[in-house]
Formats: sequence, C-alpha cells, structure tokens
Amino acid sequence: MKNLLDFTLDELKDQLSPPFRAKQIFEWLYKKNATSFDEMLNLPKDLRANLVQEFYLDPLKCVKFERSADGSIKYLFELKDGLRIESVLLPMKEELNDENGEVTRHARYTICVSSQVGCRMGCSFCLTGKSGLTRNLTPGEIVGQILCIKRENKIPYERRVNVVYMGMGEPLDNLENVSKAIKILKENDGLAITPRRQTVSTSGLGSQIKKLGEMDLGVLLAISLHAVTNELRSKLMPINNAYKIESVMEAVRGFPIDMRKRVMFEYLVIKDMNDGIKDAKKLVSLLHGIKAKVNLIYFNPHEGSEYGRPNTADMEAFQTYLRDHGVTCTIRQSKGLDISAACGQLKERDNQMSGKTLAKTAK
Ligand code: SAH
Ligand code: SF4
Repeated sequence: MKNLLDFTLDELKDQLSPPFRAKQIFEWLYKKNATSFDEMLNLPKDLRANLVQEFYLDPLKCVKFERSADGSIKYLFELKDGLRIESVLLPMKEELNDENGEVTRHARYTICVSSQVGCRMGCSFCLTGKSGLTRNLTPGEIVGQILCIKRENKIPYERRVNVVYMGMGEPLDNLENVSKAIKILKENDGLAITPRRQTVSTSGLGSQIKKLGEMDLGVLLAISLHAVTNELRSKLMPINNAYKIESVMEAVRGFPIDMRKRVMFEYLVIKDMNDGIKDAKKLVSLLHGIKAKVNLIYFNPHEGSEYGRPNTADMEAFQTYLRDHGVTCTIRQSKGLDISAACGQLKERDNQMSGKTLAKTAK
C-alpha cells in the first residue's frame, strides 16, 4: 500500500489515468479535508474502488494531545508501524475583532513538525537524542502532521500557517524526504504553504546545508548553535566534531536566502555554561556580516539531565547585550513548558506512563 500524501502533484499524475484526477484528489485531500475515498464524489466509483486497493491517506493517528496554558497544543501521533512522534501547534497571534465582532486580524499559527523517529545526533541536552535514530519519516508522514493539526483545529484552508522543522529528528539527516515534503506542502492545489513560510532547523551538518542551498527551494534556515566555542559545542553536540563552528558559519554564508529574510540562530541557554556576557560577546563576533536573528531558548530540564535552567536576569542581560550590538534577538517564550515543552518529552513521559490513561485523549 502507498501513502497518498507521499506524492507531489506531478508524481501522482504519473500514477493515475487520466492524470487530471490527481488535481481533484489533491483538492479533496488538502482543501476539503477528505479522510476517505468515499467522500471524493467527483471521482468515478470504479476509480475510487481501485484507489482504496492501492493507497491509504491516513498515515498517522492522533493518540494524545495536551493543551498548555499559553494555547499551544502538543500532539502525539502514531505511525502505521506503531512508532510515535510529536508535533506542536503554536498560536503566534490571537484573532482580533472590532467592536462589531468583525475580524480585523486573523489568528496566526506555526506548526512544529518531526522529521525522524528519534535522532542520531546525540546532543547531550536533548531527550530525542538519547535513544538514537529509529527511522526516517517519509514525506507523507511529515505532510500528514500538518494536515492532521489543521484539520483537528479547524484552521481554515486559506489561513496560512508557518511550518518549522524543529520537532524530533535532524531534518538534514533526512534531506531527501524533507525536501520532498517541502515541495508537497508548497503545491498550489495542496496546502499552498510557500517555502518562505517553512524553516528547516539543523544542528549544523555543513555539507547538507550546502546541498539544501543548492536545491534552491527558497526555505528558511535555522541553525542550532547553542555554544560559541568548539570545546563546549562538541560537548553539547557531538556533530560539532565533524563540523566545527567555523565550517557551519561558512555553510551559512553560502546559503541562498531571500533578501528580506534572516537566518535564525537558536541558542539554548544553560545555566552557568553558556549564559555569560563573554558568550554573548563571542556570539556577536561570530555573526558579523550575516543577516541573522538570534532566538534564545531556556533549557528545559528533564529527568536525568545534568543541566540547569538559566536565570531570567541572565537571559535578559544576554539579550540586551546582543541588541545593543545590533543583533536582532528574541527570547523564546517557553510555549508549553507546562506540558513538558522541549522536543521528545511528551513521548518520553508517555512511555513512562505506559498505558495509564491521561485526562485528555484525542479521538
Ligand atoms: N535537530 C534539529 C531540529 C530541532 S531539535 C536541531 O537540532 O536543530 C529540537 C529542538 O528542541 C531544538 O531547537 C533544541 O534546541 C530543542 N531542545 C532539545 N532539548 C531541549 C531542552 N531540554 N530544553 C529546551 N529545548 C530543547
Ligand atoms: Fe537531534 Fe536536534 Fe535533539 Fe540534537 S537537538 S539530538 S540534532 S533532535
């Protein structure tokens, strides 16, 4: 059986005769939220009967979701082979209404997707990295996360969402499938999410950053930097032994990016390790000449982790230093900290609870 969400429109055309059926199927899937072939009423009955034999269109099942006080919702999905992954819906801006109740600004959403089951990069602060890589996600399993979340939350088709590849896994370690997902999401007859609304986050695989750049998809890039010296970075992120900070920076400098956009640098702040002003100072010099924006992230402690959450005062001082030196810098408000925010933690907790039911279980 093939996953219908694995195909770009052109690929699906090649599978069907006559090919124009592909466009109709795309519309049912992505615009009209069909969950079965029976709903695709403008397809002939015999075609529908054949499709059922060959394709499925539900690569994931939502097994659990948790809503945080700030409105973000974390999803635990089960794949066809029983493996589980996480995705998060992050409301970025609330809907605004005027005095007559008319909408003056629509809500804005970002969806954070996983790209692998597990991850083989083994970063010492990350739960996902602890158990290694189980397998890559297929393009359709990546696309499916966005489709399911839009559907579950009744986010209207026209409401454009941003996608960030910041969930479980290292997207550039699964470049083929991730780049395919980017293309499928972009299809005008599908979800029509332009690559300029899609951000690939990487721990810094230099050669893969180059390859992604050469594909010229128009996606945005985020680099998980987390440290400004090779000594500390190698301790936190073993990948730094293969691609030192300098080589990651070189790859970033060569990456094609829209004139109006910036490369995001994520910096996980860990108490007493990388939260000092001397680190901020080094960061400013590393970013010299790059159109960058920095996103500071509070380290979120989990069971067994040896690191601590930084003080708010240190975080703010770090941010102020960067801003005073001309670097755009935001602090990631710990969306969903109360629902064990950082990637991998919902899944991990679910494993520990093994079978115990939670208050909120999705259909
Ligand atoms: N593998 C890619 C994609 C995202 S990894 C990358 O490393 O860039 C998942 C995200 O979760 C990263 O931004 C990482 O910094 C963050 N993360 C992992 N463990 C965390 C923790 N304990 N506290 C806060 N953020 C964490
Ligand atoms: Fe993998 Fe990213 Fe976690 Fe590192 S931080 S182990 S690259 S998922």
